[in-house]
Amino acid sequence: MLRFALFPRSASMRAGILLLGAFLSVFHTLKAQKAEIEQILHEVNLDSLLFSVKQLTGIEPVLIHGQPQIIYSRYKTQTPNAWAAMYLHDRMQAYGYETSYENFEATGQNIIALKKGTLYPEKIFLMCAHYDAIALPYDHATGADDNGSGCAAVLEAGRLLKDLSLPFSIMFVFFDEEEQGFIGSNHFVQNFNFKQTEIRATFNLDMIAYDDNHDFKASINTRDYGNSVELANKIIGLNDTFQIGLNLNILNPGSTSSDHESFWEYNKTAVFLAEDDKDFNRYWHTKYDSITYFNDSFFYRNTQFAIASMLWFASNKYNDLAVQSINKVPVFQAFPNPAKAQFTVYTESNGILEIYQLDGKQIHTQEIINGNNPIQIDVGNKPRNILLRFMNESGSIQSKWLLLIP
Ligand SMILES: [Zn+2]
Repeated sequence: MLRFALFPRSASMRAGILLLGAFLSVFHTLKAQKAEIEQILHEVNLDSLLFSVKQLTGIEPVLIHGQPQIIYSRYKTQTPNAWAAMYLHDRMQAYGYETSYENFEATGQNIIALKKGTLYPEKIFLMCAHYDAIALPYDHATGADDNGSGCAAVLEAGRLLKDLSLPFSIMFVFFDEEEQGFIGSNHFVQNFNFKQTEIRATFNLDMIAYDDNHDFKASINTRDYGNSVELANKIIGLNDTFQIGLNLNILNPGSTSSDHESFWEYNKTAVFLAEDDKDFNRYWHTKYDSITYFNDSFFYRNTQFAIASMLWFASNKYNDLAVQSINKVPVFQAFPNPAKAQFTVYTESNGILEIYQLDGKQIHTQEIINGNNPIQIDVGNKPRNILLRFMNESGSIQSKWLLLIP
């Protein structure tokens, strides 16, 4: 009688099967992830988006403490701007998020909504929009495109993601006092405990509904802070993957004219999604910035794209978006390898170079004050293997092994 072995006998075959299994499971997860995102994107609802904008711009009433109120202005000191804050807070709370107000200065209030991840609760993907507006007269700052549009998209994301079980945490933030120079987002970034919680990426939405020439052009604004460039490169293709139909481009160096700038100032990963600056909203910062001038389909597609970008990372436990860009680590080289007693060290930045023998004994130390210039080093012919340890000015350490031949 022949018996088939249930498991391969050799270790290498077992390892091979395990590897294949791991590969298939990643593949399966990615396929399932894509289907899940597709499903969510189908549920983005234009009426729901537009209704939020109407409420934020005084066309439809909102309920504040049970009373209907009209948000006729969102200028920072106008009473209805505080109603807007309550409205945004209450909606996110009703969806089941952990919500809070973050108060600053006399009237500033950011609204924060959080859902903890199942695997990495301390790692966050953040979507934000400012809700305050500016126009003259101050009691007519309706700000439909700037930035009722971004707020409505964040609310829609909140509505659609509320029941998903995601490995990473997601956070939604509505900033106040953007129009006075990103005061709300600055306050948020300065007071955020980055030691305890990592914000892996921030997606800022500001003015995403105006497209007068119907070319569906929108921009992902990025700059070389944190992993922002990598983030932009990784999301732009989602427009095709999910057949969203935007005409997207990456702007680098991108615009610094919204709340993502507060994150960039702290070298944090962030991108800014906005309408085409060459087809700019002609009613910007006037009392005429209204839903009348929206390109609904453009608004819808930008919302889909923002949600796809956020979910692409937050739903993928294999996501490899690191916190700091590896491109930013300065070059540290030692050559040739193997070498004789003499070799060359090249560092891009200044710092301290230490050399150790295999037994841990330090045999050389040198301060590098002339980064970018190759240095000749001679350690004599004692050791066979040495470890070069370089600490650059910002305190980050790189190491290299060098084999020495007689
Ligand atoms: Zn704005």
